[in-house]
Amino acid sequence: HAKRQGKNRYYWFEETMENELRFRNQLERGIRIGVEKGEFVPHYEQQVDIATGRLMGFEMLARWNSPKLGMISPEIFIPIAEDIGVIAELSEGLMRQAFRDAKEWDPSLTISVNISPVQLRDPWFSQKILKLLQECNFPAQRLDIEITESCLHDNVGVVRSMITSLKNQGVKISLDDFGTGYSSLSQLRSLPFDRIKIDRSFVSELKDEDANSKIVSAIISLGAGLEMPITAEGIEDATILETLQQMGEMKGQGYLYGRPESASDVRKRLEKEGLLVGIEDKPGTDPA
Ligand code: C2E
Ligand code: MG
Ligand code: MG
Ligand code: MG
Repeated sequence: HAKRQGKNRYYWFEETMENELRFRNQLERGIRIGVEKGEFVPHYEQQVDIATGRLMGFEMLARWNSPKLGMISPEIFIPIAEDIGVIAELSEGLMRQAFRDAKEWDPSLTISVNISPVQLRDPWFSQKILKLLQECNFPAQRLDIEITESCLHDNVGVVRSMITSLKNQGVKISLDDFGTGYSSLSQLRSLPFDRIKIDRSFVSELKDEDANSKIVSAIISLGAGLEMPITAEGIEDATILETLQQMGEMKGQGYLYGRPESASDVRKRLEKEGLLVGIEDKPGTDPA
């Protein structure tokens, strides 16, 4: 293939484009069908108090094992689901499953869900969430909604009133992946977030005294000043954990504590720790 030039190269290029398009089409079709068939399932990542190691809750992360395409990352299927207009339906299906799962966990445990900016553009978003909580008979106080800085580029006034009406019902709102977007600090002040999540890119390579540690310290004091507690994501080893423990109080999550797990694995873990409730009075089917 040393002399792939001129005309040949042009054909090769075209073929690659064609393959990419075919793959994209397969993904789109797969996602539509998958949403209908309920192929998307929640996995759960532990969120822990880093000082005591106490389990505080879980972040729900979408997983898709496509029968045709195999395991596909949410970093691929979420943006496509947004593009083709099925993200709200996908997200609602996942939340229903997550609330059902979480009702078997100790009620002190919270559940964090990621919400796409596309969902926030729906003027009925907060009403839909509250209705869903009611239908699933799940306490609003146990739900934490994670939104990213990219949501703040849209109309901040609209986002603020949405956040406020959810918060009035007890739902918590976290700012996810903080530090990677370009939200201004004044927006942060004007929006009533309950928590700031430091992006894992600063945490997973954290070392004593390096630039990352200065950024992380700065975010921690920003959070303290704004009275917004911190979650550090991407805690991959004990050294990082120790560094963070010296910086202050916070929640943490990451591969050190565990990879995201299926509902049944979570249930086994919680059963061992005595954090499973109500199995006796729930014989399999949805009690609500
Ligand atoms: P995110 O919300 O920032 O989620 C954290 C991601 O970091 C997850 O990847 C998680 O598996 C990964 N992670 C956790 N701990 C560590 C660690 O210690 N080291 C490293 N290197 N990675 C770690 P995942 O599950 O692939 O999700 C990627 C992104 O996809 C999420 O980022 C979130 O933005 C999006 N996403 C996932 N599920 C949903 C969903 O249901 N709805 C929406 N809208 N977005 C979702
Ligand atoms: Mg998140
Ligand atoms: Mg994040
Ligand atoms: Mg992320």
